[in-house]
Amino acid sequence: MPVSGLGPYDDQNIFARILRGEIPCRRAYEDEHALAFHDIAPQAPAHVLVIPKGAYVSFADFSATASEAEIAGFFRAVGRVARELGLEQPGYRLLANTGVHGGQEVPHFHVHLFGGAGLGPMLDHRIAQPA
Ligand code: 5GP
Repeated sequence: MPVSGLGPYDDQNIFARILRGEIPCRRAYEDEHALAFHDIAPQAPAHVLVIPKGAYVSFADFSATASEAEIAGFFRAVGRVARELGLEQPGYRLLANTGVHGGQEVPHFHVHLFGGAGLGPMLDHRIAQPA
């Protein structure tokens, strides 16, 4: 049973359709393990999504069930994308919204890569702490 409250993998999700070439994307990088493309609604001067080629609902699913080769290949690709986009200096941010509380909208694991400007505080608002 997949984790994160997102249900089983839906092969009609938008990123699955992008992977199959059914929907276009502005590709930034691709290899055996990962596809990177520019977010359709960028929230920073550089905003790229990196997704694994395998069918994983979320980071929770990917980290628990992907092979060592997929995990290593994917995260090496994330680093390579950032490097190739020229973001290493002065830096960038990675974000993986996971499940309902994480605000994940697309149920195919993805890492957001933000850069190109100072990104400010980690969260744009403080979450109320339980008493
Ligand atoms: P999540 O909230 O799931 O972490 O983020 C999903 C991201 O996918 C959002 O930033 C949204 O703008 C992006 N997105 C949704 N549909 C498309 C699409 O069809 N193409 C591209 N390139 N990005 C998309």
